[in-house]
Amino acid sequence: MEIKAIRGFNDVLPEEIGKWQFVEGTARTVFEGFGFSEIRIPILEQTRLFSRGIGEATDIVEKEMYTFQDRSGNSLTLRPEATASMARAYLEHQMYSFDPVAKLYCMGPMFRYERPQKGRYRQFYQIDAEVFGVANPMVDAEVIIMLIEFLKRVGLENLELQVNSLGCRECRPQYREELKRFFESKSFQLCEDCQRRLNSNPLRIFDCKVETCKEAIAGAPKVTDFICAECQKHFGEVKAYLAIAGLAFILKPEMVRGLDYYTRTAFEVVSYQLGSQNAVTGGGRYDNLFQEIGGPDIPGIGFAIGMERLISLLPKEKEVVRRPDLFVAALGLEGQTEAYRLINQLHLNGIWAELDYEGKSLKSQMRRADKLQARRVIILGDEEIKKSRAVLRDMEDKSQEEIPLSNLVNALKEKVTQ
Ligand code: AMP
Repeated sequence: MEIKAIRGFNDVLPEEIGKWQFVEGTARTVFEGFGFSEIRIPILEQTRLFSRGIGEATDIVEKEMYTFQDRSGNSLTLRPEATASMARAYLEHQMYSFDPVAKLYCMGPMFRYERPQKGRYRQFYQIDAEVFGVANPMVDAEVIIMLIEFLKRVGLENLELQVNSLGCRECRPQYREELKRFFESKSFQLCEDCQRRLNSNPLRIFDCKVETCKEAIAGAPKVTDFICAECQKHFGEVKAYLAIAGLAFILKPEMVRGLDYYTRTAFEVVSYQLGSQNAVTGGGRYDNLFQEIGGPDIPGIGFAIGMERLISLLPKEKEVVRRPDLFVAALGLEGQTEAYRLINQLHLNGIWAELDYEGKSLKSQMRRADKLQARRVIILGDEEIKKSRAVLRDMEDKSQEEIPLSNLVNALKEKVTQ
């Protein structure tokens, strides 16, 4: 076929959708249990929202956004992440006037112009959860606990929770300077991109995957040695609250996360099963984001889970194969009319039944029933119509029974719900 999907953009096919629905359903159940409400936000936003919110000198804004002008000349961007849009919605609808604390989640596609590879796509899906309006470290721990509970409930194992503190507006500049000095002394080891980052945003160097840069990073000063007393206190309390909840974590001072808006707590959950793209989810606190996008001083914290990566880690038994409850094999005009009447009634009762639309032979209808893995089959031929009784065959245990046509819907309803 000549017209294909765009590189880095994937179809999610019906045979995979069961896992997606399972993951989304579990997220709704767990998050709502923690008091979160769903919000749906647009896929397109004004470019400024992201360039200001995420930061001009980040990889996302510098080179990964799908930005274009619409027919009126406005610069628009396909959302590369959801936090900035959720913060915009919270401000725009003055959600704080009802209650300053908002716990929100959303799910949907994000767009980044990255080099497509396994686990990295240009359209990918995220589940996001955010708490706006609370600075207390208790909520940092609460959000992480919810995330871990969700990952457990979908069946993920062997995960590692990594945490760090990135400091705040007061202490980060000093660390940044220190880092700059350090990397300047190693600049001969740095790749071209990192040479540039040295001036624009030296923290970004930590995310570089080039071997010589990784060697330089190994001896870099640690952010946690530079954060101010307030940030130390906050981080200490987050760790204590995680410990109270019995959550194991490791400290990861080189984890800086790819977005500029993070302050204080940053965290990731990684799976070593995933290879180099090993972060299933990441998040953190962003106490400056609201001001960056023109709002008041409101703290926030949240995370984003990558759906594709999460789904690739799901255990085998989470694969859901959808099978019809019944296949109606009909012969002759009367049989077909009866089959049509029957499946309509079944569908109205929520029972998935299939029939053959093409008037094929009984043998070929039975083959199709097999292929669809129908749980039961009913044969409606002249004989059955004459007797007003149908033979219901269980395709798993091969048992058969005769059931009056008039009672078929009720009998099936009982069997399906058993
Ligand atoms: P971020 O918004 O960059 O913090 O990413 C949060 C999560 O989204 C990551 O941990 C990944 O699981 C997922 N993710 C980010 N970028 C991509 C991508 N290009 N393709 C697939 N998943 C991604």
